Amino acid sequence: MKFDTLIVGGGLAGLLCGIALTQQGLRCAIISRGQNGLHFSSGSLDLLDAACPDELAAGLSVLEKKYPQHPYSLIGADQVIEYARQAEKLLASCGIAMQGGTEQLHARVTPLGSLKNTWLSPEEAPVGPVAGQRIAVIGISGFPDFQAHLAAPALRQAGALADAMEIELPQLDGLRDNASEFRSVNIARLLDEKSQWAPLLAALQPIAARYDRLLFPACFGLQNQQLWRWLNEQLPCPLELLPTMPPSVPGIRMHAALQRNFVKLGGTWLAGDEVSHITYADARVASVSTRNHGDVPLQTRFAVLASGSFFSGGLVAGRSDVCEPVFNLDVTALPARSGWYNADFFDTQPWQQCGVKTDGSLRGYRNSEPIDNLYAIGGVLGGFDAIDQGCGGGVSAVTALHAARQISALAGGEA
Ligand SMILES: Cc1cc2nc3c(=O)[nH]c(=O)nc-3n(C[C@H](O)[C@H](O)[C@H](O)COP(=O)(O)OP(=O)(O)OC[C@H]3O[C@@H](n4cnc5c(N)ncnc54)[C@H](O)[C@@H]3O)c2cc1C
Repeated sequence: MKFDTLIVGGGLAGLLCGIALTQQGLRCAIISRGQNGLHFSSGSLDLLDAACPDELAAGLSVLEKKYPQHPYSLIGADQVIEYARQAEKLLASCGIAMQGGTEQLHARVTPLGSLKNTWLSPEEAPVGPVAGQRIAVIGISGFPDFQAHLAAPALRQAGALADAMEIELPQLDGLRDNASEFRSVNIARLLDEKSQWAPLLAALQPIAARYDRLLFPACFGLQNQQLWRWLNEQLPCPLELLPTMPPSVPGIRMHAALQRNFVKLGGTWLAGDEVSHITYADARVASVSTRNHGDVPLQTRFAVLASGSFFSGGLVAGRSDVCEPVFNLDVTALPARSGWYNADFFDTQPWQQCGVKTDGSLRGYRNSEPIDNLYAIGGVLGGFDAIDQGCGGGVSAVTALHAARQISALAGGEA
């Protein structure tokens, strides 16, 4: 099998890159081992911890001076904003409805009731300001992955008149019997059934009469937002959905929509597969074999590594070093192991910035030599701290589109 581009990893970065390339008519395959960051995320995508476009521009310029190896610094501030806007359009073209944008950076309400700056949020996510509003935070009785009583006090501190409460929803009793079954995705599978819409509405209606906003766990809407839209048409005040502990219903919905669009555009999705062998020719990746297609090497003009960070196995830590296990690319230098962590759990952690080294085109290095046709994107990259800098989703989107543009220009497309 011959491809223009083979992408290793089918999370946010791999899929955005694959969609941008297939839109240009390039033959593209994604090798995807399994779950990815979106399945565990809030559903919001962070670009940088900034409250408005001016703060974003200032933040990017600070990064360039302080963190020259940050992927945004390698790409350049103007380009970062341009790619972020392109990503907004690409998500919309996949039918993914988000609020916010580079011009409408906003503060989303977290499950703990605090406000956190972000770039794009699912339409149903609650955003600030909250001061002076009567807000009901509604949990589901017995559901462990969302605690209304944790969110309400922080909302009160932010000036809201917030109350915590629970509803019973007896239709969920079948799941309640087994704690490991009583999770957001299983609840969503049940509540998304049309027959369950009216009982949910009936439970929310008496509360809605007394409040300006209802905040409910994101426990429905696995395929689409139909139930959320319907409830908002029926209720006298807005109903908004807060992220739960993983799995993330809005993250899974976003991933499914991206994957559907990639395949619809003609992309090849190799599910549940992983790289087993790579051949090189003249400092270029020539072919990739996979566990499921071991006897048929996949020949490719370009390769993209989008295997994520430690969480997804894109980076692996040993006793004294960190490696990138697929292409064995060079990773950013780390101090001795005792310097990987800060003792204060809530402090920035040096290991977070560890990842693959690249040049400004995002080409990876092996033994200090660039591999001409191999690009690294997303969480596997080094030089940034997704948590401290609030830029996880943004780095994935921006680097995916930057790599797609390099490849497309070399391959004769126009991404
Ligand atoms: C728990 C958690 C929560 C997060 N929440 C947020 C959030 O709310 N907002 C935000 O902006 N960012 C969040 N992030 C950051 C998040 O990592 C990025 O936003 C983004 O989802 C990363 O995308 P990615 O495609 O680079 O990597 P990933 O999403 O990690 O995807 C990498 C994929 O590659 C696959 N893979 C790895 N090795 C191989 C192989 N050898 N062969 C084939 N496939 C392979 C993995 O199985 C995985 O599917 C979160 C991260 C974590 C870990």
